[in-house]
Amino acid sequence: MSFLQLDGLVKNYGSFTVVKNLDLSVEKGKLVCLLGPSGCGKTTTLRLIAGFAKADGGEIRVNGKTVSSAKATVPPESRNMSMIFQSYALWPHMTVFQNVAYGLKLRHLTAKEITSRTRAILESTQLSALENRYPGELSGGQQQRVSLARALVIEPGILLLDEPLSNLDANLREEMRFEIRRLHDEFRYTTVYVTHDQVEAMTTADLIVVMNGGRIEQAGSPEDIYERPQTEFVARFIGGTNVLKGGKGPDKTVQCEGGLVLHCASGSFPESGQTAVSIRHHDIQLFEKKPEDGSINWAPGIVDRQVYLGSHRDYHVTLRGGQTIRAVVPSTVAIPVGKEVWLYFAPESCRALAQ
Ligand code: ATP
Repeated sequence: MSFLQLDGLVKNYGSFTVVKNLDLSVEKGKLVCLLGPSGCGKTTTLRLIAGFAKADGGEIRVNGKTVSSAKATVPPESRNMSMIFQSYALWPHMTVFQNVAYGLKLRHLTAKEITSRTRAILESTQLSALENRYPGELSGGQQQRVSLARALVIEPGILLLDEPLSNLDANLREEMRFEIRRLHDEFRYTTVYVTHDQVEAMTTADLIVVMNGGRIEQAGSPEDIYERPQTEFVARFIGGTNVLKGGKGPDKTVQCEGGLVLHCASGSFPESGQTAVSIRHHDIQLFEKKPEDGSINWAPGIVDRQVYLGSHRDYHVTLRGGQTIRAVVPSTVAIPVGKEVWLYFAPESCRALAQ
């Protein structure tokens, strides 16, 4: 059963609708990532859930109880949610222990209970040794751990995270992604996590919700979203792909511009008219020689660019139809710029997309 339910949520800023009729169900204990490009409405959706912004339409329910509707809204402090922001928003004059304990003090717990719960969460977030330090004496990653500990210690009904790792350097970000997932597995709070970083979403989420222009393009498990994108937007946004436009051919084929016919093992095929094929960069194979006559899903092209990146090479190839294809292949495949090359698009890697 759904724990957090958004029904037809709408938010306008002046004449601009930034959240458009959004429906979403989140089961108890799941971590959901709202993923999408800048400006697509992720943070606004999170703020509506937290109660920091007022919806112009639709309903939000938590555990069956309405917290936002046309009739009434529950204020943020009564929603039992914790929100973590990009800036850690720690109190500089308080120690790590005091920062984490503060939320419990506000809830008037006994001193003994405050100490034991704070110590337990400091232990889980590997901060015990730093409990007497001030935020100014911590690294960025340590400060982020403190903000996580502070959010978790109050045992929120829902945990909300807004780009929590964006201020960390690349190495720390990678470490903290796993840390957030580990803490989620330990505490199992129902969590909504906003990010524009697909690796972050794939590492942490049970469910990824891809947003575009205030709407949900697709929601599914990381595998679903990556392996079975339903739209061109999702295919391009997640994992990098080539999209070849064309028309519906017989059986499961797409007739692409320039005469290339691609057999597609998966996807959705319209009855007629325009369609497209998605092929991931690393699913394309490159050969110097023409294949035997009669083989399918081959096309010749000219190498425009080739970059050696250690474990692989990154190619840009122009097909006879004028389309540019990006292919990421093993670094042993070394074909010089300007040479003719043959590309193989294995049918099982070709996915037809609804247009
Ligand atoms: P980012 O990843 O850049 O944070 P986002 O997907 O979280 O983007 P939002 O912050 O939700 O996007 O913003 C969605 C749209 O609403 C943007 O076009 C933004 O400019 C606009 N917007 C957000 N807050 C306000 C506001 N208070 N007043 C007017 N427009 C706003």
